[in-house]
Parts: sequence; C-alpha cells; structure tokens
Amino acid sequence: MPRRLVATATLVEEYIRLFVNRRAYTVQSFRPHLESGRHYYYRPTERGTGAARELNAKTISDHMEGKITIGLYAINPANQRCKWVAIDADYTSAMEDLIKLQYHLGGDRVDSALEMSKRGGHLWIFLAAPLLARKCRIYIYDLACRLGVPVKGSGLAEGIEVFPKHDAIAAGAFGNAIRGPLGIHRGAKRRFWFYGADYTLEAQMQFLKRLRRVTEDDLNRFTDGKELPANVGKARPEAEPMRGQGTERSRTAFCILDHVGRTRIVGKNHVTRCPSCAQAGRDRAGDNLAILVADPRFYLCWAGCTKEMIRAAVGKPIPVRTTA
Ligand SMILES: [Zn+2]
Repeated sequence: MPRRLVATATLVEEYIRLFVNRRAYTVQSFRPHLESGRHYYYRPTERGTGAARELNAKTISDHMEGKITIGLYAINPANQRCKWVAIDADYTSAMEDLIKLQYHLGGDRVDSALEMSKRGGHLWIFLAAPLLARKCRIYIYDLACRLGVPVKGSGLAEGIEVFPKHDAIAAGAFGNAIRGPLGIHRGAKRRFWFYGADYTLEAQMQFLKRLRRVTEDDLNRFTDGKELPANVGKARPEAEPMRGQGTERSRTAFCILDHVGRTRIVGKNHVTRCPSCAQAGRDRAGDNLAILVADPRFYLCWAGCTKEMIRAAVGKPIPVRTTA
C-alpha cells in the first residue's frame, strides 16, 4: 500500500481552483465489474432521494487521500467554458505523441503537465480564466494535425482524445469525464503522478500552480480564423452511458424483473412497487412501476423516478463514461 497522504484544506482549495469547473462528478467503483473486470465510474446519488451528489471539499480531500477516485467534467454548461484541457493518449506511441505536443505547446509559451495513466498518459493545460470549449478544441486539434499526431475518431481507431470532447453541451448534460488527477486508479491500484515534481501532494500542487496558464488573448490568437478540422468527428451525443465500455452482453444482461418484488399484469405491463420510490418510503400501493411485458427493457415509474434512480436503488447503477 502507498503511504498515507494528507490533503490539507489549502491543498484541497488549490485543487478545486485548478480542476473543478462544475459540481457534477463521477466516482470509480471499488469492485471490478463481474464480467468485464473493469472498474466503471458512476454518477453518485444521495441515498433515499436519488438526487445527484455534488462535489465538495470532503469529496476532493477523499480523492486526494486515495479513499475514493473521482472523474471530473470539463465543460460548465452554464457558459460552455472549461478551466483546463486534457489530452488523453493510450496507444502504443502515446507518450511520444504527448511529448511532441508538449514540446510544440512550449513554442507557443503554453505550459503543460504530463501525467501517467494506466496505458499512456494525460497532458494537462491550465487556463487563466474559464475559456470557450470550442476554441480550446480548435487549438489542440489544429496543432495535432500540423504535427501529424493521430486524432481518434478522424477515421483512425487510435489517437489522442481531447477533453473537452464537445464544443458545447446542453443544459442538464455532462459531456465526458476524465479521472481526477492525483487520485488512485482502482483498477491499477496505484496513484499516477505528474512528471516533473516529487511524489507528494504538496510538491505536485506546487508544480501545477507554477505553470503558466493560457489567457483568453492567447487562445484567440492561436485560433484566429481557424475552425475545427473537418476530419475531426464530433463526439457522440450523450445518453449512452456504457457504449464502448461494457460488452453488449453485460449491458443487456440487466433485467428489471430480477430486481423487483411481486408483480401483477395490468394490460400490456407488469405493475409493481418502484424500487426507487420504495427506498424513499413511497409507493406503498405498489403500483408505480410499469414494466412492458413484451420487452422488460422498457420500464417507467409514474412518480417520475428516472432510470438512473431505479437502477441505483436496486444496487445496479448505470455506469457513465469516464476516461481513466
Ligand atoms: Zn419511483
């Protein structure tokens, strides 16, 4: 086991200032998935109400101390801006490409920090103020194209991925999350540090704080007259939590009928007590949940519980995409 680290209030505050751009987050499962063996991420909810939990200082402190591992979202939907850009690469020559990018970013006087990951690395760039996700993406993709660094999704199976992965996201949407730096990866059972500083929380945060941050003027200059290269595919829309993570089998294996109590058939539906309502002590009549007899993948709570809330209530939360 790694030595125990203490996240002081100051370190937590600095971490929030640097990395937290919105309060939604994901948390990595402690237990591997039974079939895939992977440690998926979930959007945590409050017990009972099913309301989404929001990041706070305690969450960040637990993450830095390695008690939990969280994923962070890049874009704040209120202004479509982000505080950082992270370039994820996890293919054979990933490190070479990240170091090449880092070198050329330096030519623009853009500092970056290289963090190890399970199979490659993440290159982080920090912004002096929240900047438009769209412009951040134009800058990095344009640079990658000029350097011949492969970009995933542009007809290539392997290549870099840029967070933010969207130009903009809708209100209530999340975009894609990436593992919060300095936490312990549950699958790898280890902490991935940044190169360039000692392996303590203090030294790492000092190192990150000293990096020069990109200003709005910088970014406007870098992207003036440029658009996203045509061959860069738009990130897929959301509401597809597991695509690319689980197997078809593991996604369809869930059947709500395995997780509810007594049912009766009314018309085309099974009717039963909604597990999410039940957790909150509601639906005593036991008729809030309707499950389509012909295809139990379709179910609905008349009291308005979402699928996410129902899945969480039966102990089978829906994983969300988070890059580790
Ligand atoms: Zn319900």
